[in-house]
Amino acid sequence: MHGYDLLVVGSANADLVIRVDRRPAAGETVLGSDVATHPGGKGANQAVAAARLGADTVLLARVGDDAHGRLLADSLGAAGVDTTGILAGGAPTGVALITVDPSGDNSIVVSPGANARLSVEDVRGAGELLAAARVVSLQLEIPIDTVTAAVGAATAAGSRVVLNPSPPAPLPAEVLAACDPLVVNEHEARFLLGADAGDTPEDWASALLVQGPRSVVVTMGAAGALVADPSGALRIPSPSVEAVDTTGAGDAFTGALAWRLGTGDDLETAVRFAVRVGAAAVTKAGAQASFPTLEEVTAAI
Ligand code: ATP
Repeated sequence: MHGYDLLVVGSANADLVIRVDRRPAAGETVLGSDVATHPGGKGANQAVAAARLGADTVLLARVGDDAHGRLLADSLGAAGVDTTGILAGGAPTGVALITVDPSGDNSIVVSPGANARLSVEDVRGAGELLAAARVVSLQLEIPIDTVTAAVGAATAAGSRVVLNPSPPAPLPAEVLAACDPLVVNEHEARFLLGADAGDTPEDWASALLVQGPRSVVVTMGAAGALVADPSGALRIPSPSVEAVDTTGAGDAFTGALAWRLGTGDDLETAVRFAVRVGAAAVTKAGAQASFPTLEEVTAAI
């Protein structure tokens, strides 16, 4: 059986973007630009980020049996992601309808579509993929029962689990206990911790460790990331770059981190690499379109 550096279990969406002079109010119709269709979804983003760096990456996801689904499968394949685990049908492909005004503010409606149908059965059916990956990376744009089943299967197979709880939602104790690391930004950390979160990334990491994960990474935007395990915490600065568009930086960071862990890096070394990938991703517009190759990371940053 083929061995993979990384299996991503997560979402794949078509992002439909229309530029408008003004976002519409209730009951209003406004005219906008031609629609631009971009591949997105946190699962697909992470898989593309890793594949573009050279990772042997496979994505377990569900799309619709429709034009958007075929577009996503094609674009994932073109980016070098193994599409064996892309399932089709059950509902239309997930879509994000995005309007952006001239100041860059946006309004977004997400239809999870087929992402919401990625099931525990689908995870069972992908047993070979789960057993063949050294690292399994997940987010929360698919049902929590599916996440829980995939984490259980990955753990049983001896794979390392990386989880970014985005969009934030309560996590079962067995999922938290498997994370190595749990990757959060401030918003996700505060959601998981509630009122007594504390004020600093160090506070959040140590409080999160009490909830069970083996390690925690807190991303801090331009400031880089904090890596923490029960033996201590360390801030790792991000290279200083001119930020053009931060969309997808977190997915680029986590995809890169999960890949490096899959190749055998220790957590600190993997985070040192991932902050460079996140920084490179903010220097270009778009999400997947901004993700760097290994050569670009090595040359530029
Ligand atoms: P998003 O939701 O925008 O994808 P996030 O909140 O999940 O992002 P961030 O902490 O903003 O995640 O970014 C992830 C990583 O990308 C950071 O740890 C850092 O390495 C890099 N990064 C993000 N913004 C910048 C920036 N302005 N300059 C340099 N590096 C950045």
